[in-house]
This record gives sequence, C-alpha cells and structure tokens, in this order.
Amino acid sequence: MNDDRHDPPLHLLSSVFGHPRFRGAQEEIVTHVAGGGDALVLMPTGGGKSLCYQLPALLRDGTALVVSPLIALMQDQVAALTQLGVRAAFLNSTLDGQQVNTVERALREGRLDLLYVAPERLMMPRMLQLLDEARIALFAIDEAHCVSQWGHDFRPEYLQLSVLHERFPAVPRIALTATADPQTRAEIITRLKLDDARVFVSSFDRPNIRYTIVDKQDARAQLLRFIREDHPNEAGIVYCLSRKKVDETAAWLATQGVRALPYHAGMDSATRAAHQARFQREEGIVVVATIAFGMGIDKPDVRFVAHLDLPKSIEGYYQETGRAGRDGDPADAWMAYGLADVVQQRRMIDMSEGGEAFKRVLFTKLEALLGLAESAGCRRVRLLDYFGEASSACGNCDNCLEPPQTWDATEAARKALSAIYRTGQRFGAVHLIDVLRGRSTQRTTQWNHNQLGVFGVGADIDEAGWRNVFRQLVAMGYARPDYEFGALQLTGQSRAVLKGEVSVHMRRVATRKAKAEKPRRATVTAGGAPPDAALLEKLRDWRYVEAQSQSVPAFVIFHDATLAGIAAANPKTLADLAGISGIGAKKLERYGAAILELLHG
Ligand code: ADP
Ligand code: ZN
Repeated sequence: MNDDRHDPPLHLLSSVFGHPRFRGAQEEIVTHVAGGGDALVLMPTGGGKSLCYQLPALLRDGTALVVSPLIALMQDQVAALTQLGVRAAFLNSTLDGQQVNTVERALREGRLDLLYVAPERLMMPRMLQLLDEARIALFAIDEAHCVSQWGHDFRPEYLQLSVLHERFPAVPRIALTATADPQTRAEIITRLKLDDARVFVSSFDRPNIRYTIVDKQDARAQLLRFIREDHPNEAGIVYCLSRKKVDETAAWLATQGVRALPYHAGMDSATRAAHQARFQREEGIVVVATIAFGMGIDKPDVRFVAHLDLPKSIEGYYQETGRAGRDGDPADAWMAYGLADVVQQRRMIDMSEGGEAFKRVLFTKLEALLGLAESAGCRRVRLLDYFGEASSACGNCDNCLEPPQTWDATEAARKALSAIYRTGQRFGAVHLIDVLRGRSTQRTTQWNHNQLGVFGVGADIDEAGWRNVFRQLVAMGYARPDYEFGALQLTGQSRAVLKGEVSVHMRRVATRKAKAEKPRRATVTAGGAPPDAALLEKLRDWRYVEAQSQSVPAFVIFHDATLAGIAAANPKTLADLAGISGIGAKKLERYGAAILELLHG
C-alpha cells in the first residue's frame, strides 16, 4: 500500500473501496463536498459518480441522504455498500412498518453512513421531521436531470427538492447527472437553487466503448454473428423500434441459443419487471427492448448495446450505447443501418404531430445521426464534437481500426438518379435496383421499364452494392424518400450530379473478411497481463454460487474487472490479493481465504 494515511480520501478509497487511485475529477469533488461545498457533477454513465458522494459521506459526521428515483437500484447499491462494510440502508415502499422503524431508529442514533430515499418520501412531513432529529452529513441528489420538465425522465417530486436547501441551509448538497446538455444543466441549477454550487464537468468520452456501424444486409444474421463471435454468453441490450420487432427478435434469438428476453411497454408490468430483474442479476442475459428499457438499468457489466434500428438522434444513440461498459471494461456499441431505416425515420417525423418548426428540429437531429452513420472518419470525434468536445482520432472505433475505403461513385450515382427520374419518381429501391441490374420482373414488364435506356446499365454492381449507393444518396441529400410510400425522388441537389457537375465519393461496403482481421480485444486488467481463462472460469463459478447464496447480483460480490485482475495476477497471499483493484479491507477479510483456497487449495 502506498503512503495514503495522510490523505484521508485516498486512504478510504483504497481501504474501503479497494481502488488504488481516483478517476478524473473524483478527488476534487470529494474534497470540495467533504469540506462543506455544494456541487453539480456532470459525468458520463460509468464515470464513477457514486464515489463522489459516498466518500464525503464517510468523511463527514452524520448520515448522507441520497435521493434516488429508482427503488430497484437502491437495493443493489445498499447491498454493494454493505459488502464493503459501509453502514447503508434505504427507505422506500418495499419495506414493511417494522423495517421502516428499524432504519429510522438507526438514523436517529447516528448509526448510518448513507441512507437512500425516494424523492416523494423525502418530502413527507414525517421524514422531514426525522431529518431534524438526525445529524445530516450531506444531501446527494442522484439523476438530477429528473428536475427537467422538458427531459425524458421528468419526476415532479424533484421540483420540491429545493426545500432541502431552505430547511437545511448549512448542509452541503451534491447533484449528479449524466445528461450533458447546457439547458438541462441550467435547469438543475435554478430548480434546485444550486447557484453557489461548483460545477464539475467531465469529459463525456467513454473510451472503453468501441463504436461500430455496419451496413445492414440481413440484420438478424448479422446480429447473431456479432453476439456469437464477439460476446458469447455475455450480457447485452438489443434495441429495436417496434414492440413487434422486439418480440420477434427475442424469440428468434432464443431459438438460436441466445438467452434473450423481450422488454417493452406493451408487456404486463410483472413480466417486464421479471425480465429486468433477471437481466440485472443473472449472467449473460440479452434483453431485446424498445427504448422503454432505459432508466433504472444500473448493470455495470453490460458488454454490448446493439441497435437493429436507427435511433432518432445522436443524443438517443449516445444515451442508449452509454449503458454498455459502465465498469470500464471493453464494451461494444454496434449498429446495423440501412436505407430502410432512413426512409422509416424520415417518414415517422413527417407523419408525427407537431408544427413545421418542431419537425425541422427532428430532421436536423436525424441528419446529424446520419452524418455519424455515413462518416468515414473517427466515430468518437464526431460524437464528442456533437456535444461540443474536441478530440482526436480514437483508435477504438470501426473507422479508426479499419479506415473505410471510398470510391468514386459519380457514375453509379448518375445511373441511380436517372433510374429514379426515368421511372417517374414513383418506385422504391428494390424496383430501381431490378431496373439497373436488368432483371425482368412482373413490374419491369408491366411498366415497360425494360424498354428504358437505364435498364441493365448497372449490371456491374451487385444488389447489396446498389442498396448502399441509394442509402448514401439519401443520406447525402441527393435523393429523398417519399414519406407516404417510400418511393425515391430527386432533390434540388440531384441535378448537379446528373449533369456531371459534381463528383460523388462513397464508402465501400466493408466485407466480413476485412472484419475478421481486426485486432481482437483482450480483457484489460490493471496489470496488463491477460487473465488465465481457466482460472477466470473458476472464479466466475465461485462468484455465481456466492451471489446466489446471498441473493445479490454477481457484481455486488466482485466486478468482472476484479475477477480478471485476480485471474491475471494469480495471487499467492492475502497481501497479493489486497493489491488488486476492487478488493478493499472488508472484501479481503470476507472472501480472501476462499479465493486463495480456490486458486491453490
Ligand atoms: P456512474 O454512477 O457515474 O454511472 P458508478 O459510480 O456506478 O458510475 O461507477 C462506475 C464503475 O466505476 C463502478 O464499477 C465503480 O466501482 C467503478 N469506479 C468508480 N470509481 C473508480 C475508481 N476511482 N477506480 C476504479 N474503479 C472505479
Ligand atoms: Zn475512432
């Protein structure tokens, strides 16, 4: 152990939480709040927000009150803290009267370091009176963006939380959120009366997430290959647009041996809750879901988030993909994207309720996302740029790992656009491709399209190649889908291409072969050595049994990264074991002997 005795925050970090060092601004935040200051903390999911109030809670006298909107999460958080030897409890509607009394007594008698409460409970007169009788170390307001009336997670009870400041002006407050945009930030400050709070903004980069956007061909088969090859038996989320597609995809994956469960708002709430609980507690469950599956998922070891449909905006994409890899281990954000997605999203916007100005905003957001999907440059640079953060090529996205080849598609674009024009701007890509490739079908005959000059001029490009051309034409604004029927039409920009005034460069479709050559990711451990696979398997089995017997999620016992660290270091003594990140004093005492026995017994 290093000489951290003179540095109480660092000492607690390593002795209680088992982490050798702080991440990013954690230390500054902890010191500021422990010293009595107010703080607003903006950190991405997985950035390590919890420690920002958990450590001050241990450093200050009295009990820290944590306001958290999600009952299911409180239990896991409290279970995890209890494992570390921290005195934590929660008060919510799942407790019976006697349990409530026990917790309240512990609070009054100063026997709690942290108490988690739901916002509606906190505002009850009985609770406020209880707080008067207790000694409060600080207030932590988690998911603080819930005060935002325009946000997607609005919780009216959050608006009343400013009462805390009026009633307990001397108690420091720390509000935390992963929502980055400036409006929400301003709203949090006004509504919670945090004008004097120091604002800590972290980088929103999630360096352990690898972004990949593939050309959609046979989406299901592509997804299955991705899961089988890159994430067998690992936990993940698959997002689909519609409930029907969720049900179908989950059922199909299950027939293919993937432990997949559906989740959407159309299911009865008991089944939904059961599926979420299994995802949270069991290992290797894949949830196929609509965006209804979101808030409340606090699983650190989600190894991938896959999109089978295009989200509506970069904000949505970033929030959804952000649920992967909270534990900092390598994780994948994978999306399959094709022409039909663009057509579908545009149509949904066009048919949505709302005025022209509103639709324009939605179109602009969609355009930004299409720009990301079609980009030949670093995905991360584009994402961060969208959130106002400058960065350089990341080396951990598909485009960085395998720079896409571009080709001069001017000629192909002209052929495609003239096919649209000559057939009267009334057909979708499938028929246009038949015409270009010179396939005689019922429709080409019926409409005499086999008589056209463009019939068969594109036989040199295969069907997938043409689909790609049409998609990129739409994404670049050279063609657009008719909202009602999905027919492709020309735009104001098409003319310049048809007349040969501009040249068009497109991404080439990445082939699967190229993908196989990409460097395989290895589980990263602190020491850098790869973990021994057999040991890791043994440790996982042990953790599973341990978690079952205590009925807590596996990650509450040890995170994946900690198991990987153990398997890599193969410690011989308790002292060796103590040096591994994630093993604090309490866990060493509790599990150290069992682990050594498992490894060497
Ligand atoms: P957030 O609430 O910001 O999404 P958490 O507080 O849940 O993130 O932390 C995410 C993960 O990072 C957890 O697994 C936590 O144990 C880990 N973590 C946080 N701080 C550190 C640190 N200083 N060193 C190592 N791991 C950390
Ligand atoms: Zn990159």
